[in-house]
Amino acid sequence: MVHEHAERLGRDHAALPAYIYDLDGLAAHAAGIRAAIPGSVEFFYAVKANPDPVVLRVVARHADGLEVSSGGERRHAAATVPGSLLAFGGPGKTGAELAAAVRAGTFRFHVESPHELRLLGSIALAAGCQADVLLRANLPAADAEPAPAGPEAGTRLVMGGGPAPFGMDPGLLDRCAQWLCAGSPEAGRLRLRGLHAHLASGLEAPELLASAASVLAFARAWCTRHGVQRPEVNLGGGMAVDYRRPGALFEWASYGRGLALAVREGETLRIEPGRAVTAYCGWYVTRVLDVKRSHGEAFAVVAGGTHHLRTPAAKGHDQPFMVIPVDTWAHGWTRPTVRTERVTIVGQLCTPKDVLARDVEVARLRAGDVVAFGLAGAYAWNISHYGFLMHPVPGFHYVGTG
Ligand SMILES: *Cc1c(COP(=O)(O)O)cnc(C)c1O
Repeated sequence: MVHEHAERLGRDHAALPAYIYDLDGLAAHAAGIRAAIPGSVEFFYAVKANPDPVVLRVVARHADGLEVSSGGERRHAAATVPGSLLAFGGPGKTGAELAAAVRAGTFRFHVESPHELRLLGSIALAAGCQADVLLRANLPAADAEPAPAGPEAGTRLVMGGGPAPFGMDPGLLDRCAQWLCAGSPEAGRLRLRGLHAHLASGLEAPELLASAASVLAFARAWCTRHGVQRPEVNLGGGMAVDYRRPGALFEWASYGRGLALAVREGETLRIEPGRAVTAYCGWYVTRVLDVKRSHGEAFAVVAGGTHHLRTPAAKGHDQPFMVIPVDTWAHGWTRPTVRTERVTIVGQLCTPKDVLARDVEVARLRAGDVVAFGLAGAYAWNISHYGFLMHPVPGFHYVGTG
């Protein structure tokens, strides 16, 4: 269906570049994630991966709630999916954002520092409300393996286990617990529910389960020590998306079986994946404007570029793509073409960083052909610097009903 839609857009010169979202594929994928993890484990979607309202509504039907990382995301999620349970995380929450979130009855606050905890307490007191808190922990990562070298280098984003602006070291967690127990009116407005840990992104199921085991061991002991009843542990997101092998999905089934073995009576586990939920549903479809050679290497210039699809520039990979041939050629001269050779696909920006795929083999690519980049449904359009160079923004198309 996406392919047909892309072909149709390819016949209309003004229609590209465009994003196409496969809503039926997304619904099936999100339902599969929900089915693969135990019913007792809550599945929140990390909105920052893709907050597109249509996408968000489809995901929300299969998720137990949404994780938002800013005041803007919180308002957007509340307006787009009224009544959804929201967990409000992220560094640098402002007093105004916290106050609005407290008044809106936000389901959980993921608190990032002792100062933020006191600020939230004083805001809740002033508003005459209660707030439910998970303290975000910065714990040593479970696998002490060195980061992979070579083609896998840089695919992981490490958020914890060392100095980081995210979360709190065990000593600061203890300080927060002591302040909460000391009996101030501000502290009386906060209910400590447990801990949150999102330590890294881009992990496969075995690595993520190893990380979950060490987080759980810490969290259970910590919650017992500080008298947290029926503790909650949010294990974060970070499930890998392999951009070199678009067909190889994160092993949700084995991850789910691992969680089922890990979870204990009387505690609530929660996960909050983003990338691995929505990456697969999005396509960035554009047209080859020019093909040429420079110092012996072939380049294809497409309409748009990394200001629409920043993912390959941000992650340093080649975005997977397929070529959709367009046979009409309106000009009276030879069509610029590459055949069975390596080509670098770039966009329209005046910077050498505007590379969507570098030195990749193609059977044939001609000016006028359509190129559809896959895995463009997460950290794609919404992280892109589309104002740079003032090119037109892409169109947005939704295929299926979800
Ligand atoms: C970004 C983020 C996530 C989602 O991470 P993915 O790698 O997209 O799964 C979850 N939790 C927190 C706190 C985050 O910052």
